[in-house]
Amino acid sequence: MPFAHLSASLQKRNEQGLLRQRRLLESPQGARVRVDGVDLLSFCSNDYLGLANHPALIHAACEGAEKWGVGAGASHLVTGHTQAHHDLEPALARFVGLPAALLFSTGYMANLGIVTALLGRHDAIFADKLNHASLNDAAQLSRARLHRYPHGSLAALEQVLSESKAAHKLVISDAVFSMDGDIAPAPALLALCEKYNAWLLLDDAHGFGVLGANGKGVLEHFACHSPRIIYMATLGKAAGVAGAFVAGDQTLIDYLVQHARSYVYTTAAPPLQACALQASLGLIAEEGWRRDRLKQWVTRLQDGLNLHNWHLMPSSTPIQPLVIGTSLDVVKLSERLLSTGILVPAIRPPTVPQGTARLRISLSAAHVEEDIDQLIVALNRLAKA
Ligand SMILES: *Cc1c(COP(=O)(O)O)cnc(C)c1O
Repeated sequence: MPFAHLSASLQKRNEQGLLRQRRLLESPQGARVRVDGVDLLSFCSNDYLGLANHPALIHAACEGAEKWGVGAGASHLVTGHTQAHHDLEPALARFVGLPAALLFSTGYMANLGIVTALLGRHDAIFADKLNHASLNDAAQLSRARLHRYPHGSLAALEQVLSESKAAHKLVISDAVFSMDGDIAPAPALLALCEKYNAWLLLDDAHGFGVLGANGKGVLEHFACHSPRIIYMATLGKAAGVAGAFVAGDQTLIDYLVQHARSYVYTTAAPPLQACALQASLGLIAEEGWRRDRLKQWVTRLQDGLNLHNWHLMPSSTPIQPLVIGTSLDVVKLSERLLSTGILVPAIRPPTVPQGTARLRISLSAAHVEEDIDQLIVALNRLAKA
């Protein structure tokens, strides 16, 4: 039995009720999904603008396949870099108002590539404790000294920044925290970076397409500008497709093309993905009603819930976490919702701190008013039960 210890570990997880199961989706992503044979109203996806199954994106992807075939067939630096990829990069840079951009196949790879290319063992990273796992992994892999500061604590960040003698310093933060839904204080982070000569990497996975009047993300939200900002966003969430990009100074981008290992040593994403993303960028820019709707749903949910023992975390984004407490209670609640046809994921430790197990309600422009009301009625009823 060469894998006996793995089997024992899996069994232990199972006994603790921590074994994770993959739900089988039998429909496209959307507000309503078919899961394991049942039709459900879903508050689970990161498809905030409802673009993942949009006809215009499907059409662009099909046209892209007709024109470019399916596989890119090589890495970007060999022969995988098509005109489709090439055209998307300046479009993304223009959209977020930065000089240049570079496409990656996934957000996870973008973070690994950016951080490991820019920092080494004589450097230091300052990271919010609640940052995404990919940023923590990237920091480890870079071998830079890693300082994790308590969530949102500018005082703690300033303390470690002021003491650091590292050659290069990088402050890293999620722009919108994925399990809490709150927005990082980007202008204050930037001010500290200016004061202590550090770069600022903002991971806008949940802000791109959502924040700002035009969906340009966290930089538009705060009207934030600085050459020391390294902006990163993913394209598989609000943008509805897949992939990610980094944007910033032209020299930064040129350097990453040469040194970001998760860019250099991987096959380019299918060109049809870039074609679908051009269509997505168009809709993000033109259809402001999607963001208006999201704001409406956030307010409607916050105003409609009347729960005594549970509370929504303070969040103005489509991520509306409802803190329940123990893992057992949140799983029970999630199962009760499921039995009424509503799918909301239960998020438990170690993903979130002990005692803060929660339902991670995520809202989408694909929801209609009745969907939000159905969730409100179900939660209000369960809170009394
Ligand atoms: C989803 C996510 C990523 C990873 O992006 P993928 O494209 O899914 O690999 C990175 N950072 C944050 C904050 C995320 O939420």
